[in-house]
Amino acid sequence: MKWETHRRITRAVCSGFGLSSSAEIVEACILPDKQPDYTYRAGKRRVYRVRVSHHGDEAANLAFDYLKKARKAYLRADGRYKEYLGRALHYIQDCSVDPNEKLWIFSFRSDQAHNGREDAAASLRVPEEAIRAGFSETCTPNRVKDAIRYMKPRKNPEEIMILATFLSAIAVKAVFAPDKTPGAEEKYRKALKIHLVLVLVPFLILLAGLTALNFVLAMILSGIVHMLDFYYHKWKLECEWFKP
Ligand SMILES: [Zn+2]
Repeated sequence: MKWETHRRITRAVCSGFGLSSSAEIVEACILPDKQPDYTYRAGKRRVYRVRVSHHGDEAANLAFDYLKKARKAYLRADGRYKEYLGRALHYIQDCSVDPNEKLWIFSFRSDQAHNGREDAAASLRVPEEAIRAGFSETCTPNRVKDAIRYMKPRKNPEEIMILATFLSAIAVKAVFAPDKTPGAEEKYRKALKIHLVLVLVPFLILLAGLTALNFVLAMILSGIVHMLDFYYHKWKLECEWFKP
C-alpha cells in the first residue's frame, strides 16, 4: 500500500479515537517499509534471513504479535507502544490488498494487478463509516485476533479501503479500550489446571523405563499437547491482554 494511504487511514482512525499520540503513530505506520522486519527460513544448505512479506498469513500473524506488544507496552506506560501499534497497522492495511490475479482456476502473484489496486485505493477517501463500524465492534482479544488472522484480502479498491480502515479501527480500540469477556479469569483458571494435567500425561511413558529416549519422547509429545490445547491458549489470551 502507498505510504500516503497508510498515513491517511492511520490518521483518520487515531484522531477518530481521540488519541493525543496520533502524529507519532502515523509516522510509525510506514516503518515496516523503512526498517523491515526479518524472519528466518530454512533453505537447502543453511538458514536464511529474509524480509517478512507484507501480504498473507505471515504478515497477519506478525500484525497481531505487534498489536499485543503495543497493548502490553501501553499498559506499562512504555512509549514504544506507538511504534508497535504503527507496525501492526501497516501490516493490517497491507494484508487488506490481494496481490494475486486469477486466471481461470489459477491464482498467481501479479505486481501489475497489485500496484494497480494500490494506486486506485490511493485516490479514494478514508471511509468514515468503516471507522464507526470498527469502534462499535466488541473488541475482545480473541475476536480481534480472528478478525486479523482470517481476513479475506480484497481486489476491489473500495473494498480494500473499507477493510483496511475497519480493521485498523478495531486494532486501535483493542489497544486502548478493549472489551473483556465476562468470566474469563474463571475459565482461564480451569483451562490452566486441565492444561497442566495434559502436558504431564506424556511423562507417564517414563514409568515404562527411565531412559533418555523415553524422556525425549515425553518432551516432544508434551510440546505437541501444549501447542494443540487451543482452549487453554484462548483463555490465556483473554486474561493476558489486561495485564502489563
Ligand atoms: Zn508494506
